[in-house]
Amino acid sequence: MGDSNHNGKGIYHCRQCDYPLFSSSAKFEAGFDKPTFWDVINTASIKVTDNKVFCNHCHTFLGKVYDDGPPEKTGKRYLIDKQTISLIQKTNGVKYHHNTNK
Ligand SMILES: [Zn+2]
Repeated sequence: MGDSNHNGKGIYHCRQCDYPLFSSSAKFEAGFDKPTFWDVINTASIKVTDNKVFCNHCHTFLGKVYDDGPPEKTGKRYLIDKQTISLIQKTNGVKYHHNTNK
């Protein structure tokens, strides 16, 4: 708690490669000091080996996935290391400065 960067609404991007991974709408409070999600934006965004979750773009280790998430949702619980993702907030009128040249 106390990390305001992780309490807003928006999209969580991979901190290494800026790939969108999780949405704040799929975030839930599971009593851990780590961002917890019940779904990914796109299953192609991540790679899961055993229960380890990696960014499917730059292969950074993100955290782990467990099968005890909300059963009314996906039943998955993605427990993500907050050092590996950054929240890109949806704000009104203020454009996020994207660091890509593409
Ligand atoms: Zn990445």
